[in-house]
Amino acid sequence: MKNIIIFGAPGSGKGTYSEEIVKRYGMGHISTGDVLRAEIKNGTELGRVAQAYIDKGQLIPDELMISILAKVYDSQPEGKGVIFDGFPRTIAQAEALKKMLGERGHDMGMMIELIVDEDILMARLLNRAIEQGRADDNEATIKARFEVYHKQTAPLADWFEKEGIRNIFRWSDNPSKEAMIEAICRGIDAENK
Ligand code: AMP
Repeated sequence: MKNIIIFGAPGSGKGTYSEEIVKRYGMGHISTGDVLRAEIKNGTELGRVAQAYIDKGQLIPDELMISILAKVYDSQPEGKGVIFDGFPRTIAQAEALKKMLGERGHDMGMMIELIVDEDILMARLLNRAIEQGRADDNEATIKARFEVYHKQTAPLADWFEKEGIRNIFRWSDNPSKEAMIEAICRGIDAENK
């Protein structure tokens, strides 16, 4: 299985679709948001630093994210491919990922891009706050996260294109979850043939 990068704004469904893909293909899954939340829960030094940024809706500094990347990647099951969910979020992270994968004879594989209207994203995230109680799902922090996404993460779309990473799925509509998954899996299957 080739690696997959799932790319989109906060609330666009990266986590949800990643879980479906992992279920179907038995791939590895790296959600840097989950990694950081686990560090916070375990009271580590990284967790302590990360908390302050997450609470403000800002990105954790690149050096910190990059410093844990190889360890997290190498802990995934071998040969099954990994889906990167929430990473890379900056050009520096993308460059570091490319280098780390290259050192292992691997590459970024393909990407899935989720495009959703911001008012729908806001409603979803506020709803998630009620359901899951994530502290960074409040209106002020969500707005900051959208701004960070536009400034620091969205420009990566051009970077991926320049790198020749195939976008197997780009959706800016709001179809059913099932229809989305079927279309995504068709794209993944075609790319892995
Ligand atoms: P997420 O669960 O992916 O929405 O991430 C939640 C928060 O964790 C983000 O708002 C950032 O503060 C932090 N975070 C997650 N992934 C990264 C990353 N790749 N780079 C920097 N910060 C990150």
